[in-house]
Amino acid sequence: QNHFDILIIGGGPIGLACGIEAQKAGLSHIILEKGCLVNSLYNYPINMTFFSSSERLEIGDTPFVTTLPKPKRAEALEYYRRIDQKFQLNTRLFEEVLSVEKENGYFTVQSSKGQYTAAHVIVATGFYDIPMPLNIPGEDLPKVSHYYKDPHFYANQHVVVVGASNSSVDAALETFRKGAKVTMVVRGPEIGPRVKYWVKPDIENRIACGEVDIYYQSQLTEIKENSVQIQTPHGAVEIPNDFVLALTGYQPNFAFLKKIGIHVPHESPKIPTHDPETMETNVPNLYLAGVVCGGLNTHLWFIENSRVHAEIIIRHIQRRTGA
Ligand code: FAD
Repeated sequence: QNHFDILIIGGGPIGLACGIEAQKAGLSHIILEKGCLVNSLYNYPINMTFFSSSERLEIGDTPFVTTLPKPKRAEALEYYRRIDQKFQLNTRLFEEVLSVEKENGYFTVQSSKGQYTAAHVIVATGFYDIPMPLNIPGEDLPKVSHYYKDPHFYANQHVVVVGASNSSVDAALETFRKGAKVTMVVRGPEIGPRVKYWVKPDIENRIACGEVDIYYQSQLTEIKENSVQIQTPHGAVEIPNDFVLALTGYQPNFAFLKKIGIHVPHESPKIPTHDPETMETNVPNLYLAGVVCGGLNTHLWFIENSRVHAEIIIRHIQRRTGA
């Protein structure tokens, strides 16, 4: 059977939450995920610690028990995998949604593996697939990455970390502790104010005692094979370099959203058009859920405050259809 009441695009925490709510309401569902289960979390740095405490990451009224105050990536992978099993969600992995078309009140969804029809579609595609580019020469060199995974790789290397948010600070501290010579290049005058409160003093102390170098109010201007150029308030400098971690943020797949009919304003922050009361987009019966809703404002929505979208959407569908 290839017809569902609700088709959910994205098997992240919020896509799973939508599946659970659909199930509770007695509505048939399918979740299509282009990667592995909770693909974004899987691709986070191996040692990542969430800024949220575990109860704030819970979905489906199921406790997320951890021994430390904040859960690690590995624990979150266990938790969401058990959620998927416990609720026996209809999750299809490694199946990318390519197009969504509406005809005669129904959606036809084409994926990399098949075709489905659905009365409602929920887009819960997050923002972790597309990095914000630096747009400078040398960005395409293989030594440049917009994702950071594991510190050991950088042992004894000259590493430049671009950015001053949580991802950058975690990468700078971890690689420094594995023997990398770390230089941070930061656009603003300080370490980001949203950096995890227990991590901020650590990086500030490493900088103060000269263990991690930092250029404030500076920008990378060129990446070369063995060095990088940095524009600083005191002029241009060139320093030796083996690897660049350009952790300057990510953005939703706006091209995909537009392609499936969702209006995306031209101006920043490009919040895809939706009614925050119902999460319905400009296309009737097509909804947004999770962090994709913030457009370029990727710090507005988290698991903790967007998991409620699942309930809002399913209630709206129930009200409208009388289900
Ligand atoms: P995602 O988890 O990104 O899920 C979207 C899914 O959609 C992905 O699995 C993707 O593969 C899939 N997808 C995309 N396009 C398609 C397609 N066309 N077809 C099929 N599947 C598709 N939030 C918190 O609440 N607490 C934290 O501590 C926290 N820490 C974070 C740390 C980092 C390093 C980052 C980057 C984010 C963090 N966040 C945190 C915010 C984060 O965005 C959320 O944790 C969470 O991933 C958002 O859930 P989501 O389901 O909306 O999106």
